[in-house]
Amino acid sequence: MAKQDDQFKKVISHAKEYGYIFQSSEIYDGLSAVYDYAQNGAELKKNIRDYWWKAMVQMNENIVGIDAAILMHPTTWKASGHVDAFNDPLIDNKDSKKRYRADVLVEDYCLKIEAKIEKEVKKAAKRFGDAFNKEEFVSTNGRVVGYQEKIDTILARLGKSLENEDLADVKALIEELEIADPVSGSKNWTEVKQFNLMFGTKLGASADTAMDLYLRPETAQGIFVNFLNVQKTGRMKIPFGIAQTGKAFRNEIVARQFIFRQREFEQMEMQFFVKPGTQKEWYEAWKENRMKWHLSLGMGADNYRFHDHEKLAHYADAAADIEFKFPFGFKELEGIHSRTDFDLKAHEKHSGKKLQYFDHEAKESYVPYVVETSIGLDRMFLAIFSNSLVDETLEDGSERTVLRLPAVLAPTKAAVLPLIKRDGLPEIARKIMDDLKFDFNVIYDEKDAVGRRYRRQDAAGTPFCITVDHDTLEDNMVTIRHRDTMEQQRVKIEDVRSIIMKEVDMRAWLMKM
Ligand code: ATP
Repeated sequence: MAKQDDQFKKVISHAKEYGYIFQSSEIYDGLSAVYDYAQNGAELKKNIRDYWWKAMVQMNENIVGIDAAILMHPTTWKASGHVDAFNDPLIDNKDSKKRYRADVLVEDYCLKIEAKIEKEVKKAAKRFGDAFNKEEFVSTNGRVVGYQEKIDTILARLGKSLENEDLADVKALIEELEIADPVSGSKNWTEVKQFNLMFGTKLGASADTAMDLYLRPETAQGIFVNFLNVQKTGRMKIPFGIAQTGKAFRNEIVARQFIFRQREFEQMEMQFFVKPGTQKEWYEAWKENRMKWHLSLGMGADNYRFHDHEKLAHYADAAADIEFKFPFGFKELEGIHSRTDFDLKAHEKHSGKKLQYFDHEAKESYVPYVVETSIGLDRMFLAIFSNSLVDETLEDGSERTVLRLPAVLAPTKAAVLPLIKRDGLPEIARKIMDDLKFDFNVIYDEKDAVGRRYRRQDAAGTPFCITVDHDTLEDNMVTIRHRDTMEQQRVKIEDVRSIIMKEVDMRAWLMKM
């Protein structure tokens, strides 16, 4: 655990030191769980967004993208169920005065049991060596089976109590499990209460005529209310999808873990409208498609897993998360939800307008079912950033910190470095920059010894360094150094662009999907 904490602290400080993420309004001591993306962070975020958008919108002829407003008519949130049901169960510790999400306390308790399972697996893997069969071990080892049963029983009970709004039972569960406040160790808890997560605001200048609004807590509703507009104007035929990326706001009870859980964040969502009865197939297909998208970034299949929901949201008939191994353990990165016709029907009811699709072949109208994929852009950022940050010991015993961002997403693709600041080398370096800048973000760096400059770019995540030296004056060649392998090649200046392009072109990465 301490090792995990250290790694996570390193991630946070590296994100600041290398211009990725700053605390919001830092000069006023910041605002809790609100962050600003700095010069490199904004680029990385944009690249992740583009990678998602291309995979969703550009690569699928039956998916289009929109950009709906953050402010929506307040009845939207009545219809969607957010006014009545977008609550989290909160509990306070009477001694430490700290506030927690009751469900998260129980889930964290289960994570600790899960860590014990992992420990048993590791021990056994060591003992049995090559002959080790993990699946067989976890299904037959008495101790592991016992741990798993305990987790399943606890989560099933939690799911049931939350579904039935039986908050007294959630409290009873916390007491039975003897869960203590992680800060103070105290078990002196208040009752569990529901807390609505939407931020309210007002539209209009005068107090009497102002209208109460909410900052959207999810982007999905902007898609639902535009369903028919898009279907008609785009002449879309079912099945089809509408995608969008944009800010969402939630007044989270406990917003910890850096950008993992913020009060203002960005979502990338796609609602796929299907014929009722076919939702199960589409749900499975989108689960598979989204996992492929993640794996195409090459961050290791072991870092992802599906988690099927026990407790379904009020609108869903099936739901799963894609979880990622963050520095603090496996947590939700993306949700895939089969939302039935809940939202469109609710908007029909509250607006009095029909939101139906006319199927020309079957000659019938119906309210489509919806399968949604919903991923937090900031969480994806954290997944990539934390996974990429590594400390390496090199062959000569020296250390280097390298940010192994997938090259396609790296904020800066290359740094151009004149070996020294004179003899015409800076001029050649500038000329190379001037050519490359049409295709890539490139930077120029002439300060310090070249070795130090390499290290600086490694830590900033730049996949290539291009060094101009005295031989360049003679042979028109430069040294290109690869961040991950540190391999250096002597290449013609005119070939630099295509060498970089080969590694960073989205096309090649998306083809791996
Ligand atoms: P959690 O259980 O972690 O609160 P959720 O199930 O409420 O998440 P959804 O409503 O399904 O999340 O939202 C879809 C995605 O939006 C999540 O998978 C996550 O990546 C992202 N997300 C949700 N809440 C936040 C937040 N407060 N900060 C950053 N990203 C978030």
